[in-house]
Amino acid sequence: MPVRFLIIGGGPAGNTAATYAARLGAEVTMVERDLVGGAAHLLDCIPSKTMIATGGAMSFSRRLQGMGLEEVQPEIDVEALTERVEDIKDHLSGSTANLLTSQGVRILRGSARFTSPTSAEVDTHDGTTVSVPFDAALIATGSRPRVPEWVRPDGERILTTRECYPPKIFPKSVCVVGSGVTGVEFVHMFESFGAKVTLVVSRQQVLPSKDPEVAAVLEDDFLRRGVSLLKGARAQSIERDADGVLVKCDDGRQVRASHAVLAIGSVPNSDGLNLEAAGVHVDGGGYVPINHHCVTNVEHIYAAGDVSGKLPLSSVASMQGRKVAEHVMGLHTREHRHLDYDKAASAIFTEPEIADVGLAEAEAFASGRKIRVTKVPFSATPKALINNDSRGFVKIISDPATGVVLGGSIVGRHAAELISVIALAVTANLKVTDIVESLLVHPALSEALAEAAE
Ligand SMILES: Cc1cc2nc3c(=O)[nH]c(=O)nc-3n(C[C@H](O)[C@H](O)[C@H](O)COP(=O)(O)OP(=O)(O)OC[C@H]3O[C@@H](n4cnc5c(N)ncnc54)[C@H](O)[C@@H]3O)c2cc1C
Repeated sequence: MPVRFLIIGGGPAGNTAATYAARLGAEVTMVERDLVGGAAHLLDCIPSKTMIATGGAMSFSRRLQGMGLEEVQPEIDVEALTERVEDIKDHLSGSTANLLTSQGVRILRGSARFTSPTSAEVDTHDGTTVSVPFDAALIATGSRPRVPEWVRPDGERILTTRECYPPKIFPKSVCVVGSGVTGVEFVHMFESFGAKVTLVVSRQQVLPSKDPEVAAVLEDDFLRRGVSLLKGARAQSIERDADGVLVKCDDGRQVRASHAVLAIGSVPNSDGLNLEAAGVHVDGGGYVPINHHCVTNVEHIYAAGDVSGKLPLSSVASMQGRKVAEHVMGLHTREHRHLDYDKAASAIFTEPEIADVGLAEAEAFASGRKIRVTKVPFSATPKALINNDSRGFVKIISDPATGVVLGGSIVGRHAAELISVIALAVTANLKVTDIVESLLVHPALSEALAEAAE
């Protein structure tokens, strides 16, 4: 009898687990209450990056003069942009659903909840309730934007990040509350579409968890573009008035804008699953704790993706999904490598882009670990000059005794792509000499990597 594997949630964690498990011979049922692809494809990651790419094209057009061309002032075509965002979402959702069905995955549209440690019930969109017995189950229900008690988003002027697209709204002025990764991406996006932006930064540095040198480059860029940074301020209330919104901070400062956007984290979708019936524990924040195989406190029930409280990234969710499929099918004893969350690469799609992986300088400093840090600015790289964009740098952190690459960060154009080289080196324990001796393309931004590895 094949393993009956129930997956709740069709985001990156759920659909990757479903594809791999089906390929390995499991009988997979995946339940999705909205659209296959999950919040990642439909509400968060992909729509925001699509809008940022269009905003990036607009800001690039403002730099055309430096490339020997006349400057142009492109107009936003809201309808065409909406269509573009919708097309990409539909394409990704459709291709993911096709891939799953071609692998034999049964997709149930509806909401699932556990009824016992070995069964769940699904209220399907066609009004029926289907019982699903299982041998193994995966909770991959993701998360949703956090809304604090002092504000009530109205979907018109006071927005969560999910209410900013399809792009029906192009605020004249916007106050973004929250200066983590999502907050700074929204600042960049709205500014590149021409809005006057204020960012409420609760600490003294945007991106408080990042390398200060990296954050400083972004802050300089924001200030150059006219973004106001309200540092050391916590928003306390957001009210609507006739012209827009009034954001009041705990230090008495106030921001008036046409719109406010909340980017202050997320909460897990673990409620409504009736986890008690399955005996699955949640922690104080509602996350489902897991071990290094993504197993919950119940040995045949797994959790992956945002709901598991590990790194809230699509890439991590997908890799967890893959590892879960291998574990369910008993492959972990052979080919399985544990997921090392400390080696996950991540990027921030601002301008310049920011990407990092592995050990950070500040982290090594705090732990007293000896490291070698080498840094090369893009201004020394021919391709950066050709691109008329030489902002940023490459920084590589290695072990001074062995030369093994431990981490790195890149600020600059295409940082999200370039970081792959350092990510591979960190995962495979490669040495700086492995990067130096690679015969790379010339002229290319990757030459800065080879130089930083010297
Ligand atoms: C604005 C924004 C931008 C982001 N950009 C990036 C980025 O550039 N790169 C990156 O790596 N990450 C990014 N992320 C993070 C990324 O979107 C998440 O980490 C990712 O979506 C997590 O995937 P998941 O599979 O856990 O959940 P999700 O993608 O949230 O999917 C969960 C699915 O479960 C379904 N579901 C929930 N409950 C039930 C139920 N009871 N029954 C049936 N179905 C249910 C939901 O409908 C949903 O489709 C971004 C996040 C935000 C907010």
